[in-house]
Amino acid sequence: MAKVRIYQLAKELGMENAELLEILNEMGVSYKSHASTLEDETAQAVKEIIAEQRGLEEQRRREEEAKRAEEARKALPHRPPVVVIMGHVDHGKTSLLDYLRKSRIAEREAGGITQHVGAFEVKTKGGTVVFIDTPGHEAFTSIRQRGARVADIAVIVIAADDGIMPQTKEAIAHAKAAGAKIIFAANKMDLPQANLDKVYQDLMREQFVPEAYGGDAIVVPISAKTGQGVADLLDMILLVAELEDLRADPEAEPKGVILEARVDKQAGVLASMLVQEGTFRVGDYLVAGEVWGKIRAMRDSDDNQRKEAPPGSAVQVLGFSELPHAGEVVHWVPDQVAAKEIAEERILERKDREAGAETGLRARNIADLL
Ligand code: GDP
Ligand code: MG
Repeated sequence: MAKVRIYQLAKELGMENAELLEILNEMGVSYKSHASTLEDETAQAVKEIIAEQRGLEEQRRREEEAKRAEEARKALPHRPPVVVIMGHVDHGKTSLLDYLRKSRIAEREAGGITQHVGAFEVKTKGGTVVFIDTPGHEAFTSIRQRGARVADIAVIVIAADDGIMPQTKEAIAHAKAAGAKIIFAANKMDLPQANLDKVYQDLMREQFVPEAYGGDAIVVPISAKTGQGVADLLDMILLVAELEDLRADPEAEPKGVILEARVDKQAGVLASMLVQEGTFRVGDYLVAGEVWGKIRAMRDSDDNQRKEAPPGSAVQVLGFSELPHAGEVVHWVPDQVAAKEIAEERILERKDREAGAETGLRARNIADLL
């Protein structure tokens, strides 16, 4: 191997000659000048020392950055937890949502109109909770398939007269895969045949040890029919949310997720959006997958027109050009040109992918024939 001169090595390592000479001094290597040649072994040792130094620096820099990011996060305001209700068919998901919805309507003036915007808020003394307005895991799964993370907490309803059933297990698996915290609601406790112990034992079989048995699985006995225990459930949700320390930046670049969308004959495309970061405002441009829009109006679940939608708000957006998919991530864009460009780019990318897959397929078929 050709020997390397000190100045060459310095250049290779992207450092000053003086710096390298200092390292050589520390290593006790003797040399005449920066034009002196180094033994291969020495050059190798120098490289290792530099690599280690740089590695340590890089690590320190990364740690600093993480610390700063965490500090910045701690300075952000809290946001309400977003909760999805899942469970086996007929175990009471819809009833629980109805009860929660009703309880919040009852707090307002009688006859208040509510609007289905994909999610609704329940305000308690302890804080606000956002519930995704569709039970079951289909919506949840289709949202997750598009890569969006929506729910922080999954309330898994288990009828106490029935226990854990196949779809309960599915719901548990979905919640786990989505990284949502799980709270179990043992429902139908008003029925004489309700058996909380059976629910506990079923959970043990699924590797969840209930708090009543000394574990950390949260189980709240409720009745979606009488409302018994529902306040406790809300308290538990808020407690878990507090431990999760959920925060969002209302000043960040706005981001959200489509919960559902439909076409109204009169109004056009109506899309429900959950805002996750930043604040969307009427007049903003946005892109959801291959669809773009300009927010013409926003309406919340209390049927109020909204000029602004900060993190944690669910609003129905008027102004998408076409129907966006549920689960599509919504990004704010500065203007119409950017909005159209991004949407068109995405359409082209998809078509390219599809064409690519097609060509690949054809190529393989020809290969089969040869
Ligand atoms: P879902 O399929 O999980 O949405 O279940 P539903 O909410 O539709 O409830 C299924 C049935 O159980 C309905 O007849 C409800 O009235 C009933 N139900 C739900 N919750 C309770 C409850 O807490 N107590 C009693 N007694 N019945 C309930
Ligand atoms: Mg239902």
